[in-house]
Amino acid sequence: MGKINVLGKNVSELIAAGEVIERPASIVKELLENSIDANSSAITVEIKRGGISYIRITDNGYGMIKDDVEVAFLRHATSKIKESDDLDHISTLGFRGEALASIAAVSRVEMTSKTSDMQFGTKISLEGGDILDIDEVGCPTGTTIIVRDLFFNVPARLKFLKRDASEANSISGIIDKIALSHPEISFKLISDNKIKTHTPGNGDLLSAIHAVFGKEVSSALIPVQYELNGISVNGYISNTSATRTNRAMQHFFVNSRYVKSKTCMVALEEGYKNSVMIGRYPFCVLDVTVPVNTVDVNVHPAKIEVRFVNERVVFDAIYFAVKSTLSSDDILKTSSEPKKNTQIRNLLSTFKSQESEQTNIETVWEDEPVKADVPSPYKDNFVFSNSIKTSFSSNEAEYKVEKTVEHNEFNYIKPQNLIKNEENIVVDIDTGEIIEENPVKKSLQNMPFVRVIGELFKTYVLFEMEDNFLLLDKHAAHERIIFEKLKTSVLVDDRQILLKPIIIAVSTEEMQALNDNVEMIEKLGFLFDEFGNNSVIVREVPLVLSSYNISNIFLDIANKLIENRRNVTSDIFEHLLHSIACRSAVKANDTNSIEDLTELLKQVYADDEIRHCPHGRPVVVAMSKSEIEKNLGRI
Ligand code: ADP
Ligand code: MG
Repeated sequence: MGKINVLGKNVSELIAAGEVIERPASIVKELLENSIDANSSAITVEIKRGGISYIRITDNGYGMIKDDVEVAFLRHATSKIKESDDLDHISTLGFRGEALASIAAVSRVEMTSKTSDMQFGTKISLEGGDILDIDEVGCPTGTTIIVRDLFFNVPARLKFLKRDASEANSISGIIDKIALSHPEISFKLISDNKIKTHTPGNGDLLSAIHAVFGKEVSSALIPVQYELNGISVNGYISNTSATRTNRAMQHFFVNSRYVKSKTCMVALEEGYKNSVMIGRYPFCVLDVTVPVNTVDVNVHPAKIEVRFVNERVVFDAIYFAVKSTLSSDDILKTSSEPKKNTQIRNLLSTFKSQESEQTNIETVWEDEPVKADVPSPYKDNFVFSNSIKTSFSSNEAEYKVEKTVEHNEFNYIKPQNLIKNEENIVVDIDTGEIIEENPVKKSLQNMPFVRVIGELFKTYVLFEMEDNFLLLDKHAAHERIIFEKLKTSVLVDDRQILLKPIIIAVSTEEMQALNDNVEMIEKLGFLFDEFGNNSVIVREVPLVLSSYNISNIFLDIANKLIENRRNVTSDIFEHLLHSIACRSAVKANDTNSIEDLTELLKQVYADDEIRHCPHGRPVVVAMSKSEIEKNLGRI
């Protein structure tokens, strides 16, 4: 006789159930999804002992007629799809017809259900998958399902469950996520007779977030509404000063379904890059809406990983959504939305400031020489990340940026045929067409009247702008300005040939490190040669740095390279840019003239990137007049 047995229905049901139902939280997830698919507007979940002994889910959805109640518990019984073609455009949460069968196979289940056009409902009870009883009952429209004694017939599984409290937590986590993805439904969780969560179901996502996570989280959020290439991104992201120590609070939904996706996470964090400190993470509740046929949800039911047909476009949508949202939350710009009548004032606006000696300095914006980098769309869209390519078009011109990091190789493709003329207007060499008017100048025209009050601790610049008191960290601001300029200068390869080359004495170890990294140093914009035994001669430097102490900067690079050999950082190139910027920026104790501070302030105002230093510390903090008055008890 052969060795192969065909398993009986009960055994095969148990095995199949194990695929879908791992713990009480998986039951809650499946049943909630059914209630949502049934178009409910209020759903209550009650659990006892972490759901192991008792789970009840009551909804006010469509309900079922008797015939459907009878077959609902059969494996592969579903009302949501009919044919294989339907798999390509699934819009419901469920579609496999496995949940009820699986749950019933490993517990004692009781379900009552009624549709609105029936006078009576149906009640069914099952044990280990077998129907014990089915009857007519009086009940409200909707469905109630009670699951008792989970895994009563699979003791081995029961052993794997965690403590009650930990199972209760994971149920609560599931409900949070589902509640956030459906703010139009009111969810209530009762655990051992206590109400744990209750969302209002008024359709407002922020209210749902508030109900789930509390005020501290909900008050630190900025709304996101963005669309790119048919993908829309909606929800909330944390402001740059409210970060977390881990990623637990990053919630992503794709077409309202909770997912885990590396693409989404990386895109979010890239958007915050250089705006939050290393080791801190932004949080979010973001729903990404993609055409249903571009996402594969047909992965394992218990898994929440998602695959996109085109990960790149999803990345871009989230990345740019975050970027543009953060820049719209800019404290400098939002506090000073140009008001109706400011047009004239801006044209005439002068920059008045009073030092302690009462010297008045007047500067007319329009006459000021202004510096511009590459056109802002180009800069904004530059994704500074490993192995990420971006190309986009703006104002009829195509810019292409590419940086690939493979085996530590850096490769920047610079925009073709674009140059900046003396007025920093970007023109296409081939056609003479103006690609971008001087963006800084444009932005400064909207700058409201600002009064520099002075300096504090030789570190901060104090100033007044409309109804706000602002405090600017000199070093942090300057550092970020240089950092941005360096990035740009690397891209467009803006170098200065030194009339007088600089000779720098280096140690043997430094020489070694420099020689090992000639190519990278050249990409940074430095051209150097060995000069005698223990010196190098630097002939070209990045244009941005031509007025700084090159030998300090250069030695710094050498030492960072030595450090990196011992302790390899993921992105040494960016690390070098940081350190050059830090080295070149004004220091806290430097004395600066009011003109210098004014110039600094203008540069900060003109460029929304300059809100955090390259390490993520804020550059400027603001306090509104009303906040101050509140603190001082005036209002
Ligand atoms: P699926 O959700 O994949 O279709 P299930 O086993 O979860 O499979 O449910 C089987 C069927 O039972 C569903 O297709 C639906 O028609 C019906 N059903 C389950 N739960 C509910 C509910 N709460 N309200 C109305 N109908 C339900
Ligand atoms: Mg289902």
